[in-house]
Amino acid sequence: MFCIGIDDTDSPRGMCTTYLGAVLLRRLKRAGVRVHEARLVRLNPNVPEKTRGNAAVCLVAEGSRRIAFRLACEAVEELADLSHERTHPGVVVSDGPLSPDFYTRAVQSFCTLDEALALLAGSGALFRGYKEKRGLIGATAAVCSRFDDATYEVLVYRSADRFGTPRSVDRQSLFDADRETFPHTWDTVDRGNDLVVCVPHTPDPVLFGIRGERPGWIALARERVISERPACEQVWVTNQGTDAHIVPGTIGSLAEGHSYLVGGTVCAPPQTFLGGHVCLTITDGTTALPCMAYEPTRGFRDVVRSLLPGDVVRVCGSYKRGSINLEKLAVDSAPPITLTRPPVCERCGKRMTSAGKDKGYKCRRCGGRSDRPIRAILPRTVSPGWYEVPPSARRHLARPLCRGVREDFLRPPSP
Ligand code: ZN
Repeated sequence: MFCIGIDDTDSPRGMCTTYLGAVLLRRLKRAGVRVHEARLVRLNPNVPEKTRGNAAVCLVAEGSRRIAFRLACEAVEELADLSHERTHPGVVVSDGPLSPDFYTRAVQSFCTLDEALALLAGSGALFRGYKEKRGLIGATAAVCSRFDDATYEVLVYRSADRFGTPRSVDRQSLFDADRETFPHTWDTVDRGNDLVVCVPHTPDPVLFGIRGERPGWIALARERVISERPACEQVWVTNQGTDAHIVPGTIGSLAEGHSYLVGGTVCAPPQTFLGGHVCLTITDGTTALPCMAYEPTRGFRDVVRSLLPGDVVRVCGSYKRGSINLEKLAVDSAPPITLTRPPVCERCGKRMTSAGKDKGYKCRRCGGRSDRPIRAILPRTVSPGWYEVPPSARRHLARPLCRGVREDFLRPPSP
């Protein structure tokens, strides 16, 4: 068994590394190379050079490595958008299993081309980089990938003569597919916002994709979808929807471009900025950390806006330019607010006023006194629990709450 890794074949104007992988998979089969698994590997979404979702592919195969390498290179040379200035493909065919450390770093952090080349040089892998060869980073990460948690996606591809033209996918059929299979599938549509999510608007070969927990569920949903005639489709096993990019973090020691689960106490009323972006500031008692819910997160912003100073939360998201870009959050404590008002004078029915700090209340008309204020408990609109951005604003790697939260996210850290 060996792994074929490919990355950075697409550009904003077209192509998709998964499509290239699906085409290659069919060619490998015809050439007698058995493919056991097709992996769609999402890497750190904060890598500045990424095209769209920072996706690489890995085909786990058995047969002739040389034939596999030749066919992979031919597919890249034929299909990758090589003339685009930002497309720098990489092809790796491993010789046996590689340590998953490089993969883990590529999804949670950053890897350099030199690190990839050093790993490949000592591994016996066959590899080829094109142009600036940056795709070798993702291709290496793909062959090193090992998923602790995985989901599936069936990607349905268009025929080449339709690339770049408007997609024809029946909207109602997508809502039907979602209704019949959610929560075993997700992000087909955004029911709350009445939006289709699984049909891209970019000029790439993907017609639509259905994400889910098991191949059977996505097949059930996929059968429901009415669309233009696709060219082919491929079920990928993937780290999408697993929070593989999230690491535990602490306020004050967060690194740019990494994604964290970090706890804190709300220290200021949330602010709404021009454009509808909402900022929640949390603190560990020393350092303040702004957390952003941008306008596309829609109703999620109402949850953020309902938080008050003193509430205890944990937030999930990428740390970029000094703030967390919120993907989801846990409200661990949002106690009701107790309001106190001066009492009403029993003799004349007039509201008393404060008689000074710690001196109780005084009636200005009759001089009566009281030391008991009226207490009102204001219930909160937000209750403890997890909240997430809607499907239309979700990142590929972000684990949807319909899958539950990661085991290590379940309990709030002890204070
Ligand atoms: Zn009075």
